Amino acid sequence: MSELRYLAALLRGSLPHLVDEGELDEGEAQRLESELGRLLAGGPAAESADADLQKVLRSSPAVVDWVAAVLAHPDGVPPEAAELAEDKAGPYEGLAGDAPGVGAQRYTCPVAGDVHWFRLRLSATVPNCGTHHVPLELVTT
Ligand SMILES: [Zn+2]
Repeated sequence: MSELRYLAALLRGSLPHLVDEGELDEGEAQRLESELGRLLAGGPAAESADADLQKVLRSSPAVVDWVAAVLAHPDGVPPEAAELAEDKAGPYEGLAGDAPGVGAQRYTCPVAGDVHWFRLRLSATVPNCGTHHVPLELVTT
């Protein structure tokens, strides 16, 4: 999967978070979800789909900022999950001796990997892939 398609799949999973934060309105998020779902379902990187994906990733200032934050992270982790990892690295870092890692678990669509989603809270319900309607599965690597 190309970086572009990774970003697109990751953005799908982060849309509800961006709505919660007031960065996107509900209608905009729904439009992005259906657009990204359609483009990602087109199979491995047709060049035309890549151009369209790029357009979607530049379609609003909130999305542009979010993409920039993901690209700035060494592991390509979305900003909301990266913040969580930093919080976890807080006062106990020295005691635990763990390398600061990603605090949130990553889930992906088991059918096509066309959605990536980070579970930021244990209480969060794991969503279904909007395209394949199956629950996302935990990535254990
Ligand atoms: Zn899927």
